Amino acid sequence: MRQRIAVVGAGPAGLAFARVLHRHGRPVSVLERDPARDARPPGGTLDLHEGMGQLALDKAGLLAGFQALSRPEGQAMRILDVDGTVLRDWRPRPDDLANPEIDRGQLRDLLLGSLDVQWGSGVTEVVPGTRDGVLVRFADGRQETFDLVVGADGAWSRVRPAVSSATPRYTGITMVETSLDDVDTRHPDLARLIGDGSLAVYGVSRALVAQRNSGGHVKVYAQFRAPLDWHAGLDWDDAAAVRSRLLAMFEGWAAPVLDLLRQGAAFVQRPLHVLPVSHTWAHVPGVTLLGDAAHLMPPLGVGANLAMLEGAELAEAVATAPGPAELDEAVRAFEERMWARAGRWAKITAAGLERLVSPDPADALAFFDELQPS
Ligand SMILES: Cc1cc2nc3c(=O)[nH]c(=O)nc-3n(C[C@H](O)[C@H](O)[C@H](O)COP(=O)(O)OP(=O)(O)OC[C@H]3O[C@@H](n4cnc5c(N)ncnc54)[C@H](O)[C@@H]3O)c2cc1C
Repeated sequence: MRQRIAVVGAGPAGLAFARVLHRHGRPVSVLERDPARDARPPGGTLDLHEGMGQLALDKAGLLAGFQALSRPEGQAMRILDVDGTVLRDWRPRPDDLANPEIDRGQLRDLLLGSLDVQWGSGVTEVVPGTRDGVLVRFADGRQETFDLVVGADGAWSRVRPAVSSATPRYTGITMVETSLDDVDTRHPDLARLIGDGSLAVYGVSRALVAQRNSGGHVKVYAQFRAPLDWHAGLDWDDAAAVRSRLLAMFEGWAAPVLDLLRQGAAFVQRPLHVLPVSHTWAHVPGVTLLGDAAHLMPPLGVGANLAMLEGAELAEAVATAPGPAELDEAVRAFEERMWARAGRWAKITAAGLERLVSPDPADALAFFDELQPS
């Protein structure tokens, strides 16, 4: 009898899992809380690494589609001092396809293809070990059972409690995101400052990062050390008030750099949370986790890559399992591989975040030089 498989979450992890299973002719229920594909803005740009996100797309048969959409020139990276001096100006060779950028929305649509997603299916609870399998409860009161439930539902996973009591903790570092549209025509000076890829400015315990997306869209991230309630009393709908609070935090930085904040129309805060480094759990038959649900780590260009690779690898392992015993063994072996790899990256990204938003900005520059020698 065919195994009943569900994945909770249609982010990079869940979609890569579903797409690779689909390619192997195995049915999977994709359960997503969002009511529709475009229910919320898809977010910024992602660089997909050759041996990670790109490998996952290859396993899904989508590498050519990615190459047609992605922006190799977006790998460019410029670093400025807070006074505006250019400290590093790294540009990729024209044939460098190691880490091209792609808009999250484009990646989501590529992965979705003709997949049948059950939108508006917010999962509230997963109960393993019932007589009929793993029970999934939905916010609208429905319930359904499966042989395998894969939790790919991100940082605040509702599947995770079925296998682990771990919860994300605040890192002490917050990002506030804003964006600029039509930067080449409306803000040509900023367009030149940013270049083709990313711009970063590192100061004392704070940083400003701007990343070019496709179509002249730029996302700007102000990053700083602050308590979780640093914004008490601030009205997020009052963009002028948020802007002036941020400008005060970055006081003394060069005017062109501060224009990145001055020109931003709306602001969204993203306090950075992480799961414990090397998060593992005692294997629970019928339930597993992928991506941020399993190993939420600082956003240093790895999370989506790992999420997709794990999704693709688990799908391949599961697709070739002929029966329930083999399925469980495949999941168990996958978890061991995932934990070892994710644990290594969790350590690297935790140390990296400390260095990029550091009391000593020279440490951020040294970190960049270690990653991008020459
Ligand atoms: C600002 C920022 C920049 C980043 N840049 C990069 C980068 O350049 N490169 C990189 O590799 N990573 C990057 N990351 C990290 C990356 O975004 C995540 O690691 C990645 O999205 C994780 O994918 P995921 O599928 O595990 O989870 P998510 O992307 O969080 O997807 C989870 C999905 O599950 C759904 N869901 C949630 N709860 C439920 C529920 N109860 N029921 C049903 N569905 C549910 C959500 O709606 C969502 O669709 C960045 C992160 C941030 C915050």
